[in-house]
Amino acid sequence: MSLTEKIKKLKEEKNAVILAHYYQTPDIQEIADYVGDSLGLSQKAAETDADIIVFAGVHFMAETAKILNPEKTVVLPDLSAGCSLADSCPPDLFKEFVAKHPNHKVITYVNCSAEIKAMTDIVCTSSNALKIVASIPKDKPIIFAPDKNLGKYIMKETGRELLLWDGSCIVHEAFCIDKLLELHNEHPDAVIIAHPESEEHILKTATYIGSTSGMINYVKKHPEKKFIVATEAGILHKMQQEVPNTILIPAPAAEDNTCACSECGYMKVNTLQKLYDCLNDESPQIDVDSGIREKALVPIKRMLELSK
Ligand code: SF4
Repeated sequence: MSLTEKIKKLKEEKNAVILAHYYQTPDIQEIADYVGDSLGLSQKAAETDADIIVFAGVHFMAETAKILNPEKTVVLPDLSAGCSLADSCPPDLFKEFVAKHPNHKVITYVNCSAEIKAMTDIVCTSSNALKIVASIPKDKPIIFAPDKNLGKYIMKETGRELLLWDGSCIVHEAFCIDKLLELHNEHPDAVIIAHPESEEHILKTATYIGSTSGMINYVKKHPEKKFIVATEAGILHKMQQEVPNTILIPAPAAEDNTCACSECGYMKVNTLQKLYDCLNDESPQIDVDSGIREKALVPIKRMLELSK
């Protein structure tokens, strides 16, 4: 039996579901029951009746699935699949920051730890961030964490002042504006689309800015065009399946002399073999302290309610 067949068999036997992020490698995306962005994955995690959730993504995503499903077993193929953005917001420092601004509502991007979510009023993803911010009365000041680039984008789109945490994603900050403009000169007919975790100068070049799902939907609506795609390169697999005849070019990263695109080292530590092993061994499991879980569940549920 191939590894893929073994995973499928085991999945049936154990009543497991495999949820994978768009940034996972193509072989993992192909075996997943659902491939999506953070919002879609949270929604799937909230509604699954599987006994085991195999989360092919990074730690904070699996943690969110566990918060939503405390009674289920949640496994991550590789526990070292972290996230620079989540790491840029340590709970002790964030606690002090929030305490200094007690009249603020706290909105956090889903890319943060359970401890940070437990200090949050509403969680958001890049798919629903504008909607979540709009749900807060205009006269109420807002703390937005941890991604300053997404925060700046929301400020520009909504005209609202947000108190930003100084965090960022190393992958989306690696895009090089000079190389991107050079690439665009070589392909003047290409449309630039970008994820809002990218820096402002990259976003200024983009015709469309949106979440990974938003980017895929945008490309599907304009399959006759050519695109330069500024987000983690794993998205190109699903995107190309949706628009097989469209030319998709990954946006170039700055320090990258060997590869033309930007890849997330955290996402890519997961492999098909590790996925099989974690399902077989039911390890490593994700656990969240019950006190933190109860507090973190509230802002996640608010987000899911507002996203219906
Ligand atoms: S791409 Fe960036 S935000 Fe996403 S998991 Fe990797 S480091 Fe975190």
